[in-house]
Formats: sequence, structure tokens, C-alpha cells
Amino acid sequence: MNRPQSEKLFQRACQVMPGGVSSPVRAFRSVGGNPVYFARAQGSRFEDVDGNRYSDFCMSWGPLVLGHAHPAVIEAVRTAAVDGLSYGACCEAEVQLAERVLQAFPLMEQVRFVSSGTEAVMTALRLARGATGRPKILKFEGGYHGHSDSLLVKAGSGLATFGTSSSLGVPAAFAEQTVVCPLDDEAALEAVFAQLGPELAAAVVEPLPGNNGLLEQRPEWLRTLRRLCTAHGTLLIFDEVISGFRMRFGGYGDLVQVPADIVTLGKVIGGGMPVGALAGPRDLMQQLAPVGGVYQAGTLSGNPISLAAGIATMDLLADGTAYTRLEVLGQRLDATLSDHAATRPWLRWRRAGSLIWFHLADVAVPRRADTIDDGAIARLNAIHGPMLDRGIYLPPSAYEVFFLSTAHSEAQVVELADNLVQLADLT
Ligand SMILES: *Cc1c(COP(=O)(O)O)cnc(C)c1O
Repeated sequence: MNRPQSEKLFQRACQVMPGGVSSPVRAFRSVGGNPVYFARAQGSRFEDVDGNRYSDFCMSWGPLVLGHAHPAVIEAVRTAAVDGLSYGACCEAEVQLAERVLQAFPLMEQVRFVSSGTEAVMTALRLARGATGRPKILKFEGGYHGHSDSLLVKAGSGLATFGTSSSLGVPAAFAEQTVVCPLDDEAALEAVFAQLGPELAAAVVEPLPGNNGLLEQRPEWLRTLRRLCTAHGTLLIFDEVISGFRMRFGGYGDLVQVPADIVTLGKVIGGGMPVGALAGPRDLMQQLAPVGGVYQAGTLSGNPISLAAGIATMDLLADGTAYTRLEVLGQRLDATLSDHAATRPWLRWRRAGSLIWFHLADVAVPRRADTIDDGAIARLNAIHGPMLDRGIYLPPSAYEVFFLSTAHSEAQVVELADNLVQLADLT
């Protein structure tokens, strides 16, 4: 497949933008080759600037649960745009989206809107620190919560450790306030709370970790985390930026019946436009400015166009039929893969609703970051380019999950499975 226009654009981009990109993984560094430049997208399909067409299984990394450019979402955006792009003042859409979000999260009473998932989690941490007066936070290895300083932190050596920065530019003094623990390990949790419980303002976790493989946790592990947070007065933050409204109309925490104190949202609630949110009980949320002393603000927060896209998306998801449809597609994918797997012990994957992660190695699919198999990652990365040449766009890193949308067809998921297996056979 030829992509001369994409190649030219990337050369130009590299002159004027670091790595040629606005977000690192888009540069295709882990999968090789150069990025594709897209001109338009509709439903499950992408078209690049050279006129090549692709089935998209990245779907903007999660927001597009209804597919690209859903007509009702586009219409809502068009209608809103005519009335002004930004007010920097209050609008009815804020109230409407807040009401919809809270309807779906029965334990939450108030919402603050921001413009990205990063901001949502950053604000949730500040709120937790402000409310508890404690300095430290607990995160988990392999959890991604955006790129704020406190969270660009990885584990040091040992079971549960003070974090070390995973990026230049994060002072050690910040990183030390973040404690990092492995997933899927109750003993490590008990140990970290026994040692540091009184200093922990919050534990932040993706209840369905989906940014470093799909490291779906055992509900018992989540319940242990909940119990320890309650016992030590530590707030539990469920980062549902990916999982919120992805599996069902609401959160993953409610699905597995583990309640959080604060929930962070993004991706789906913006329907493809920049929106993030945090939600919590009234007494906690009232500690945010202007009522309380925890400061947070945003020029474009509660942007009317973003909210319009979010409301339209919520309204299409509310009756649950979209999730039934996604499950049909997911089961079709499972069935196709199971046939192939009968003769291929290395063909392993994990699926949670419309999220899929392949771990191409003859070992159990891991639930914690340190047991991910390097060979599995290399194998999946190696087929990214060949898949692209067959018209299938995958997330450009084997650590990332694939996303299905209601716009995909059963034929497309079968095509995904067949091609992936054929190409993996050759590696
Ligand atoms: C995507 C993501 C974020 C960051 O959201 P941005 O909008 O990219 O800032 C945070 N947490 C989780 C779980 C995510 O998946």
C-alpha cells in the first residue's frame, strides 16, 4: 500500500514538531514505519490522505464507542457551533451532561468538568490531598492516569516502593509522594497500607486497567483495595477514563460492585471532543473552589461544543442497546479466534466488552505489568505494518487495547481475527 502523501507530511511535521507528532505513541516508534495521515473517518472506517481505506480498531483510543462521525453527534455539534464556540461562562449543556453522568453513577452527587482525562485525575488527586490533608498517593504498576507530574512515576525495585520518575522533568521530591504497587497482589496491598496507610490521601486505579495491556483484575483484589482504603481513611479513586460508559451505561466499579469515593471520566463522555470530569459525593466535591479551598479552573472547561457531543453520545447509549451490539461483535471475535486457537497455543487474548488485548505467547494472559511477555509484545508489534497494508489500522503499540464500536460489522471483526492470525503465523 503506497502512502506518498503521508510520507511527505511526516517529513514536514518532523521539521516543525518534536517527533512529528502531538502525542508520542502516534509516531509508530514501537511498531516501525511512519505514521499515516488521515483525511476523514466515518463509522468504523478511516481514509488516509492518499485515498487508502482502513478498518479502524483504535477508534481514537476509546471515545468513539459509536464509531467515527456518528450522524446524531455531528448534528449536535453543528447545531451547537452556530451558537458560539466558547462562552467562558455558564451554559445549560453543563447541567444536562452532569445530570446524565450522575444518573449513571448512583453513588456520585456532583461533577466538575475539565477538558481531558489528565486534568480530571490531576484534579481528583488535589481534591483528595486537600480533603485528607495527607501528602501521598498510591498507584499501580501498569496503570496510566494521564501525564501529570505525580503520575509519571514507575515502581522502583522491591514489592511496593516509593516511585521514581518515569519522565525527565519530574522532580524526585514529587515522585517520592507517589507509592507504586503491583496489581493482582493482595499481600503487597496489605504491606503498603500497614506501612504508609496514615500518609495516603488516595489510591488511584483503573478498575479495568486498559492502558498497559488489558490487565483485568480479580474482583476480590478490588474489594481488598476498597477495604484497606476505608480502614485507613484513604480515598479510592477509580480512574474510569477508558472504562466509563465502555462496558455499560455507567462505570466498571458498579458492574463489579466495588464503590469508589471519586470517579474520573473522559473519552466516551466527550463523544470524540475534549471533555474530562470528576464525580464524587457532595461533601467531597464541595471542597473544590469556589465553595471550598481546593483550586481548579479552566478557560475552555464546560465547552458548549464538547458538551453537545457528549450529551448526544450519552443519549444514544442510555438504553443499553449499543452495549448489546458490542457484546455480539465481541463474541463473534472470540468465536473466530477460538477456532484459530485450537491449533495455536500461543494465540491468547483477553476481552472485556468492546476492549480486546492480544498477548501472543503460550502462557496465561497476565494480570500484572511485570508478567507481560516481551516476545508477545514483539510479535504483535511486528504485525502492525503488515496489517496496515491489508487495510486494518491497529493501535500503534502492542501495549494498547483494540477498541470495537457499534459501527463495526461482524464481517470486520472476522477479518481482523483472520488477518491477525495469518500474519502472526508468519512471525
Ligand atoms: C486516556 C486516559 C487518561 C488520560 O486522558 P487524556 O484525555 O488523554 O488526558 C487517564 N486515565 C485513563 C485510565 C486513560 O485511559
